[in-house]
This record gives sequence, structure tokens and C-alpha cells, in this order.
Amino acid sequence: MTAIEKISNLADGGRFDASDRMDYSKVDALGQGTKYDICASTASSRDVSGAGGIGDVLRGGLCHSFTPDGRCVSLFKTLYTNSCSHQCNYCPNGAGCQKKTTKYAYEPEELAQITLALYKGNYIEGLFLSSGIGGNEDVTQEKMLEAVELLRKKYLFNGYIHLKILPGASDDHIKHAMSLADRVSINLETVSESYMKELSPTKDYRNDILQKQRTIRDLSRKTRLPAGQTTQMVVGAVGETDKEIFQRCVYEYNEMQLKRVYYSVFTPIEGTAFQNLEKQPLWREHRLYQTDWLYRVYNLPRKEIEIAFDDAGFLPDMDPKMAIARQTLDSPVDPNTAEYDELLRVPGIGPVSAERIILARGNKKITKSRELAALGVRINRAKAFLEINGWRDATLMRWLT
Ligand code: SF4
Repeated sequence: MTAIEKISNLADGGRFDASDRMDYSKVDALGQGTKYDICASTASSRDVSGAGGIGDVLRGGLCHSFTPDGRCVSLFKTLYTNSCSHQCNYCPNGAGCQKKTTKYAYEPEELAQITLALYKGNYIEGLFLSSGIGGNEDVTQEKMLEAVELLRKKYLFNGYIHLKILPGASDDHIKHAMSLADRVSINLETVSESYMKELSPTKDYRNDILQKQRTIRDLSRKTRLPAGQTTQMVVGAVGETDKEIFQRCVYEYNEMQLKRVYYSVFTPIEGTAFQNLEKQPLWREHRLYQTDWLYRVYNLPRKEIEIAFDDAGFLPDMDPKMAIARQTLDSPVDPNTAEYDELLRVPGIGPVSAERIILARGNKKITKSRELAALGVRINRAKAFLEINGWRDATLMRWLT
């Protein structure tokens, strides 16, 4: 059962009373409409059961996110409307989609009441509100804002809210959104103006998206936005390489001061202009998340991470940290003497375990791999790159000869 079906069933069974006028097909359609809008990277990278398994972020209706203080919260994830006048070639909500579906839109009060009812029933802790642009981005953005304002001001809802900024939204609407939401995001989708022309001929990459990101960045210096600005990239729809995506994301982190970039691997959808394009493997998304992590959390230099890409600019289906280590670590690392930065480059050792090693060896020399394992090192990955108390793994010796 999908999350959104569960919500509808709960409502149907009278276990929460959202509204007398509640239309379950609408709740279902607008929940399902968000399934390619990613606001968390919590699903397994293994394609274990295909879309629809437990924990799959491709499900619409509910998702999880992390608040600024680190809590993981469940969010009611919905579109305001699944009607859209843009023609994004991959999107089932777009005006160009040949598969006709019923179009729905909430009223602000209706959406506020459903969110509240779900919150009071302890099914959710917050709201992720995205949308098609309907016929006009200003009108739809205004209604989305009205719903969020009702939640905040009329119903005094203090839960977490992630609010989408629609492409082309006015600066006043952006400012208003930032005064109400914890996090705002505008979907970048691709790496350049020319790729955007292929992906969505109706979107103006520079003015409707990049300029809006800059507005959010500049306003967030004056208006508090607790969980910051994020964005989303569609991976592999129009032939952009992983390296181009990575480089664009580095720009986004540095210049736009984004908190996170989310990656959504391209999946062809019936009726769209891209329905016959090849589905991209889920591992591609996962490898991009790993390079993102190396840049954002490990603080590895961009040039060093780029060692992981092949000559054509793609990541192999291999942990990028392992790929970099194999090309750069030419002698084993001694955990008793290595600097923090050296330890951090060993696969299986992260920032936390590197710090623990440095603390632990201050008291006593590390002589066994199991001592490293107790400090959180993933020893099976790390051992080929280590020399512990004079002992080297045979795998490493094979590489050196
Ligand atoms: S803007 Fe593009 S991706 Fe967003 S709902 Fe409209 S058609 Fe879909």
C-alpha cells in the first residue's frame, strides 16, 4: 500500500477528519505527482525490488527530511496542482504529455486542513509542498503561500515546511515564502542553458531559475531560512555527463550557497516526449551522492574528486572514494602516524573514525585491525590501504608488485 493510499484509507475509516469535502482521488493524484520530486536521499541505492518497495523514495505522499537540528521528520509530500503549462519533456504533469490525466488543485484552506489533520493524527510532522505551475506561476505560487500562511498564522502550525519556489516566481513571493518556510528550493534540473533547451524548451534557465536562486541566496543574508536552500537535478535525461553534473553542483554549493543538491535518476514515463529514452541505472544517482558527500562533508578538493570520473566524464559503478584511493594512494597508510587528512582518504575511514583514531593512538599504539574496527573503521574496505604495526594486507602487496 502506498503512503498516500494509507492516508486516504485512514481518512476513509474516520481515523482522521480532514474535511467533509475531502476528495481522496485528489489527495492520491497530487501525492503521486511528487514522486520524482526528491527532498531526501534516504532510499537504498540497491535496486532491490524496483519502485514500490518499502522505503522507496519514489513513492509519493510521504517522505522524510532532516530538520536544522538534525531530527528526521515525516512530511506530507504533495503537489498543490498537477496542472502545468510548461513542457518539460520528462514530466507527466507537463502540457506536452500525451497521456491525459485528471487535473486537480487544492484550495489553500483545504490543503491547510488536511495537513493539520494528518499532523494531529501523528502521521506527519511537516509539509513538503511542490506544484506544477498551473496556468500562471504567480497565481499558483500565491495560493501555495496562502496555504502555508494559513498553517503558520491561523492554525499556529510550528512543524517543518519545505516549500518549492516555482520557476519564474516573483521576488516578493520568494521573500514571502522565506518568511514562512524552513527550507525553500527551486529545481535546477540540469547543468546548463543548452541542456535545459532539450529538457524543457519552455523554461528560461538563466532568468527563471538561476536568477531566482541568487535572489534566495541574497535574501537569506537578511531573512532567516533555518534549513536553507536546496535544489534537484534530473540525472541522465539529456546526455549530460556525471562530471558536468558534479561541477555544476560544486558551483551551486559555492556560489548559490545551497545546503543540499538532490539527484533524481531519469526514468522514462509513458506519454512524455522522453518515453522511449533509456532508463538510467539507480547506481548512477547513488555514485553522484557519494561524490557530493566527498565534496560537502569530507571537504576533498574538486580536482581530487574528479579523479574518480572516467575519460568520458562518467562515474563507474564503484565507490568514488575507492576509485580515488586506488589511483592516488601508492603506499600504505600507518594509522599510528598518519595525519587526519591522510586517514580520511583511506576507504572505510570517515571523518568520525579518523578523529577517533587520532584520539585513541594518543593513549596506546594501534596494533590490530580489530582495534580500528572498534573505532568505526570498515576494516574490509580499509585494510588494503593500511600498514598496521608492520603488517600489510596481501591485496596491497599485489598492487605494488
Ligand atoms: S515545471 Fe516542468 S517538471 Fe515542473 S510540473 Fe511543470 S512540466 Fe513538470
